[in-house]
Amino acid sequence: MKLLPRRSFIEQAGLLTLGASTALASTTPGSIVSQNRRRVLRAAHLTDIHVLPNMEGLQNPVDGMASAIRHAQGQADKPDLIFFGGDLIMDALKQEKPKVIAQWETWEKVFSAEVKLPAKLCLGNHDVWGWAIHDQPTITADTHYGKGLALERLGLVDRYYSFDQAGWHFIVLDSIQPDYGNKHGYTARLDDSQFAWLARDLEATPASTPVCVLSHIPILSACVFFDEDLESTGSWIIPGAWTHIDARRIKNLFYRHKNVKICLSGHVHLADDVTYLGVRYLCNGAVSGGWWKGPYQEFGPAYALVDFFDDGTVENRLVYYRS
Ligand SMILES: [Zn+2]
Repeated sequence: MKLLPRRSFIEQAGLLTLGASTALASTTPGSIVSQNRRRVLRAAHLTDIHVLPNMEGLQNPVDGMASAIRHAQGQADKPDLIFFGGDLIMDALKQEKPKVIAQWETWEKVFSAEVKLPAKLCLGNHDVWGWAIHDQPTITADTHYGKGLALERLGLVDRYYSFDQAGWHFIVLDSIQPDYGNKHGYTARLDDSQFAWLARDLEATPASTPVCVLSHIPILSACVFFDEDLESTGSWIIPGAWTHIDARRIKNLFYRHKNVKICLSGHVHLADDVTYLGVRYLCNGAVSGGWWKGPYQEFGPAYALVDFFDDGTVENRLVYYRS
């Protein structure tokens, strides 16, 4: 496992300005980097925006979301598309419907005014309505309960899907499953039908086509160790709401498909770069930083620029758009 502190990301960024085609083997652990690789796509990965109407005590989330989008789209070397990695709004899990709708209205206002590039959307746990208030029949009977409201507001037909672009195959997953046994109301895993779909989708993808997987919650992550003071118990027990509890079966599936190269995620509001069995897992911080109250631990509000190359490698760097 490899954990890159903020400084290392900045150092990488400095190196990258020397030329996107330069081979940087040290930034792509576990992968073979071709000296002649060609960049085929640049994406901005904006995760954990957690937008909501401005309120006292928060550092202007409405302006923050707009600033991050403008910053990404204003890059001299412009991205081709934007991945919105989930937790688009502050919270729907525990909120009454009118408050959730107010958050979606804020999202829609900023999104429609600012987003000029093609966008791909991924659901996060905080985009799911009501799972943490599951004991109220009037809420659970509402057809918007759970993912319905988010899918409707976002215009998403499916909660998971895949597409091809620039010689890569992209898979967008839905990490969030109900779990009323824990205080969060969800756990991170793929339901059986989604897992079967993922297996079929990989089977149908030519082995020569590199695959990038986008999920809200990391499939594998190092930074989750530091999310809270876990070690005080004397054991590293990582909650299944923090990183995929079904990581083993996903890892086993990826091992049978060596063209799975990159997994992008958010959720933790920290950043890391973990390579395991040839798959590079990148957790890319949070646009909201510490939920619009400043940085979260060492990580301020940021998005990532991800350059995809034709040899199945990527360069990934965090951009601190407010600093
Ligand atoms: Zn999340």
